[in-house]
Amino acid sequence: MPLVSTGELVSAAVAEGRGVAAFNVITLEHAEAIAAGAEQAGAPAILQISENAVTFHGGRLSAVAAAAAAVARASSARLSLHLDHVVSADLLRAADGEGFSSVMFDASKLPYDENVKATADAVRWGHERGIWIEAELGKVGGKEGEAPLDAHTPGVRTDPSEAAAYVAATGVDALAVAVGSSHAMTERTAALDHTLISALRATVPVPLVLHGSSGVPDAEVRKAVTSGMTKINVGTALNTAFTGAVRTFLDANPQAVDPRKYLVPARTAMAGTVAGFLGLM
Ligand SMILES: [Zn+2]
Repeated sequence: MPLVSTGELVSAAVAEGRGVAAFNVITLEHAEAIAAGAEQAGAPAILQISENAVTFHGGRLSAVAAAAAAVARASSARLSLHLDHVVSADLLRAADGEGFSSVMFDASKLPYDENVKATADAVRWGHERGIWIEAELGKVGGKEGEAPLDAHTPGVRTDPSEAAAYVAATGVDALAVAVGSSHAMTERTAALDHTLISALRATVPVPLVLHGSSGVPDAEVRKAVTSGMTKINVGTALNTAFTGAVRTFLDANPQAVDPRKYLVPARTAMAGTVAGFLGLM
């Protein structure tokens, strides 16, 4: 079916009191697995491509975006395309016309005032083109080149009153908040601050986004959705499934050379992970 917009999927989730999961696309097999997992679960999903994934593809956005969009359009599931963790203003502008209905503009490394200014500019640019903009306040650690933050690391959590002021000053459509999760966790051991999630939900007028959900146990993901998180981002869990399946196959078949032999189980394993997360929404 045609691409759905991320704003539409997130608004529907808010209205129905559930979550909507967003999964990171690195290879074509990731996109195919996300579509297959969404079809299995009978649920909508967001395919997201990060700036790091674009860098992996030689800094060229078009090929990976076109592939993900084509996979989404060929699926019977309701799927949208999102550009994730964009730091580069050039990449933000490249999103227009590539099928993206939303962008996460990441100015979280900047001091507060500069973050507000850069994000407000990105929002103005996006809204002129019907593109929904997500931003981050606080610090969800473990991005490429950083160690995963300990879930209890103090001083990085999002402050509810600052978050409300930030949303008012920037006009963002959704806000990624730091509530105890961290990117790139390969063990699902993160404990979330549910009191903080409830406080943010009460103070912030736009949908909240949980990054680093791969490291969050099932029960905690479910509780986060109940406490008021709407967009649930999952990246590393797909890579854990992918690489685990490839490693198992190659350990058992060290002479294999045809990549289809190990990419089939890798893609099937990722689809299972996708369906599992969608079942928590
Ligand atoms: Zn993230």
